[in-house]
Amino acid sequence: MYTPSEHRYDNKQSFYNRCGKSGVLLPKISLGFWHNFGADAPFERSRAITRFAFDHGITHFDFANNYGTPYGSAETTFGQLMAEDFAPYRDELFISTKAGYDMWPGVYGEWGSRKYLMASIDQSLKRMRLDYVDLFYSHRFDPLTPVEETLQAMVDIVRMGKALYLGISNWPLEPLRFAVDYLKTRDVPLLIYQGRLNMLNREPIEQGILDFCQREGVGFIAYSPLAQGLLTDRYLNGIPADSRMAQQHFLTSDKRTPELLDYLHNMQTEAAQQGRTIAQHAIDWILQQQGVTSVLVGASSVSQLADNIQL
Ligand code: NDP
Repeated sequence: MYTPSEHRYDNKQSFYNRCGKSGVLLPKISLGFWHNFGADAPFERSRAITRFAFDHGITHFDFANNYGTPYGSAETTFGQLMAEDFAPYRDELFISTKAGYDMWPGVYGEWGSRKYLMASIDQSLKRMRLDYVDLFYSHRFDPLTPVEETLQAMVDIVRMGKALYLGISNWPLEPLRFAVDYLKTRDVPLLIYQGRLNMLNREPIEQGILDFCQREGVGFIAYSPLAQGLLTDRYLNGIPADSRMAQQHFLTSDKRTPELLDYLHNMQTEAAQQGRTIAQHAIDWILQQQGVTSVLVGASSVSQLADNIQL
């Protein structure tokens, strides 16, 4: 039986940001379930990280249909946590999921068709044992499907009560502009944009996306804020066997260059002068950028998450 900490909202005044021009407040640090929560991860560890997050005011959990190994298993893990731990707290949680990347075989299991999006949201709800998600994203722009088809399917998902808000992730600026206008005219304004932003990858700033979102009253949530672990002390002394880099899939060892190590050592010195770790320094840099609502961290242990929330 899980009883959340009664102190979870002690920092209510300082730990939440308004998401664009909406009624939604999001925690400055949100938790992502891309890695570390699939069927290949120890369930009790997933539970401990999720409970720790909620106990510390992290109310926003982020998924996609294909998170976890095998695909879908991060949502399934969360479905079990929902049933066993979090059901009484559903209304304190802000749950997002996405569709866009490869999820199931054949020609209807990825991209942006109405056929795919409608099936995907139903699958996600079943796996997570939810009646609705708070936020449904298009995970990537589909250059071959009419953009109106994708957007109208998303609007209809809201109208059907399967999602409360809509988000867009990884779309280039021009189609994003179109989406913002389209959704406005359907009375389902875009809530948030999810893009990769960290000290090593600044595309959303360079491409004007962050600025555009701010002007349009759309929130912005930064994913891979620690560059998948590069912007921490994880790889300072080698490649730990249990690390993401050791898997050589999404994060490969060629990223661990002498230049990066120099950069990290300098950063470590600078961070230490402010009494912070490298991870805290990297997260704080993102939160200082105008227009950022939340930073979406990953963690493979409670201690990593504890490090990341010491703002
Ligand atoms: P991060 O950049 O936060 O990387 C997380 C990894 O960094 C952890 O798994 C861990 O690696 C390491 N780490 C985290 N904290 C620490 C710490 N304090 N000290 C040392 N190492 C640490 O984010 P992710 O790349 O995991 O992405 C976060 C979330 O963003 C995802 O879960 C997902 O929700 C979202 N996302 C969205 C995408 C999109 O296309 N919209 C794409 C990618 C992510 P290790 O596992 O080796 O311990």
